[in-house]
Amino acid sequence: MKQVPKILLIYTGGTIGMLLDFNTGALKNFNFDELLTHIPELNLLDCSIATHSFEEPLDSSNMNPEYWVKLVSIIEENYEEYDGFVVLHGSDTMSYTASALSFMMENLGKPVIFTGSQLPIGDLRTDAKENLITSMQLATMQHKGNPLISEVCLYFEYKLYRANRTTKINAQHFEAFTSLNYPPLAESGVELTINREALLVPNRRKKFTVFKKMSSGVILMKMFPGLDEHTFNHMISYSELKGLIIETYGSGNVTTKEWFLKGIAEVIERGIPVINVTQCSGGSVNMGLYETSVALKRLGVISGKDITTEAALAKLMYLLGHGISQKSFRTIFETSLRGEMT
Ligand code: ASP
Repeated sequence: MKQVPKILLIYTGGTIGMLLDFNTGALKNFNFDELLTHIPELNLLDCSIATHSFEEPLDSSNMNPEYWVKLVSIIEENYEEYDGFVVLHGSDTMSYTASALSFMMENLGKPVIFTGSQLPIGDLRTDAKENLITSMQLATMQHKGNPLISEVCLYFEYKLYRANRTTKINAQHFEAFTSLNYPPLAESGVELTINREALLVPNRRKKFTVFKKMSSGVILMKMFPGLDEHTFNHMISYSELKGLIIETYGSGNVTTKEWFLKGIAEVIERGIPVINVTQCSGGSVNMGLYETSVALKRLGVISGKDITTEAALAKLMYLLGHGISQKSFRTIFETSLRGEMT
């Protein structure tokens, strides 16, 4: 008998799994075991589907590293049995969770595709069906007996992206995500077109492992005109601070006020890594290009290059969790580990 790929569909929560309760007029989570009754089209796919739902599905605004561990553990426990994983997740923090999982799963050799929707699956105009069905199809694709895609991806509105390159950019449009610094891995039109050159090539000889000790104590600080000395000093004086990300202007620029640069120097002297990421959705940090970033480079601030804020946070928590020494931190952070930077 022909072996069809086995896909595990994991539901964490979010709009996609909600139905309108006609009695109350409110959206509520539907019983996930009945998924196939709501989307009978899934029965037509050439794969076998098993489902797993969080006991209490979440609005993704309540996601946190503890849930990341819960999710990655489900994949770990089922890794050998399934050929691919599709994760249904609220779109609000999907890029954060998917970026985190891209680091937490080491030597991933199978597809883990995150998707969700802007309208609930029960809505007449829903985007959920296409997102879910195509994600499932992509997860089943094989090449010479191996999964074609072996990385953490995010599928939304006809495009498959490398997850740790994505950002949610729209709260209304069906096209809710973008990946400005890396091309889509696949596009769904009349045909499913895979951009093979853009895919990560896994090392199948290395064993798949899962890392669960993401560090706490990181601060994400956005530069803005009006950030004052008092607020800034208050933030950086946090005694449990382990890592600081500054979302800078343009190509990595900041105010050159003395109190600011002195504060950054002190954080670095405490042995705490400081990362420079741009608050632009596209483009790269280039410290030294403008006078307003020269000092950061001299002080030893680490360049996030063209990484997204979401991926920078995940990478920082991951490397701090690994206890990487201060000496090697910059080199490792500035190296692409999962295709998250160019
Ligand atoms: N607030 C929802 C969530 O992120 C939105 C969505 O699912 O798209 O869980």
